[in-house]
Amino acid sequence: MSALLKRRFVDQIKVMFGAEPSKPKEISPAAQQIHFYKKGNRDLIAENLHARAHAGHSNKWRNRRWATLIFANLLFTLSFFLDIQILEGALTASRFVGFHLIDLNSALQVMLAHKHIINNLLIGTGTVLVLWVLLGGRTFCSWVCPYHLLAEWAEKIHLYLAKKKLVTDQTMDRRLRTVFWAIFALLALATGYTVYEAISPTGILSRALIYGPGLALLWVLALLFFEVFFSRRAWCRYACPIGLTYGVVGIVSPVRIIYKLDACFHEGDCRKVCLVPHVLDTVIKGRAVEKEVPIGPDCTRCGLCVDTCPTGSLSFEVKGLSKLA
Ligand code: SF4
Ligand code: SF4
Repeated sequence: MSALLKRRFVDQIKVMFGAEPSKPKEISPAAQQIHFYKKGNRDLIAENLHARAHAGHSNKWRNRRWATLIFANLLFTLSFFLDIQILEGALTASRFVGFHLIDLNSALQVMLAHKHIINNLLIGTGTVLVLWVLLGGRTFCSWVCPYHLLAEWAEKIHLYLAKKKLVTDQTMDRRLRTVFWAIFALLALATGYTVYEAISPTGILSRALIYGPGLALLWVLALLFFEVFFSRRAWCRYACPIGLTYGVVGIVSPVRIIYKLDACFHEGDCRKVCLVPHVLDTVIKGRAVEKEVPIGPDCTRCGLCVDTCPTGSLSFEVKGLSKLA
């Protein structure tokens, strides 16, 4: 990794905790050459606008993701109804062929509440940690979390209403998520209860799908209502501690999105569909520090930008392996 990419890597970790992405101070000679070539090159701009106009929109990654998310959640439900003991429990804590699997954030909350390290939890947490390091940290959000799917649909309603000028997106300070993470950790430590679990839409929905609906679903509805009428994807963007925990896991993950500067013409379609557009600051004209730039750990690997990019400048990659698509 070049020194410039290393610097960006550190910056992207800060960005995940709430810092605003900034203009790079230095750009590699190879990237500078491309930026210079694109500047004012009318033929290239015309060619790219043509490519954009004729690019068929794909939903390839979105469809794969929705199918995986629905399958993963239904597996718990089916397993409970058919009393198959291969998989037991819910997303936050389960047993798969005898192995304990515990969601990283839940395990942390339980250990903070009990104020000691629980060995059984450590084994389950370790398995989950390895799994999500390999699969990409926040991949959990977009490929498994049931709230993500509902929030994605709510976002469509929000965008429709925003287009009709009936609602506006109230943005908030992204550092709020880090503050919430610390508050919930301190609450667990101080009260001895896993307070966050009671209001986590991820846990509420997962349990509702398996054991049937309860009053807690009203809280999830309230969150969705807030996101439709006041603030786009507010919970995942500004509050959810699970997202931040998995973001930290994703720092060392080999699965990531890679950006290639060559073909990009910086129209920003990708940033419009992204849950965390701050990770795509590199696509802004003149910002890419190298010809190829990996997208930072706050990325949920949802693939919406890959589906949307008309020039194929964004793609999935497994570090060290060839391109996936
Ligand atoms: S940020 Fe939280 S609620 Fe949103 S998708 Fe991730 S885990 Fe689910
Ligand atoms: S950068 Fe792309 S893959 Fe990552 S969250 Fe944004 S749209 Fe999804």
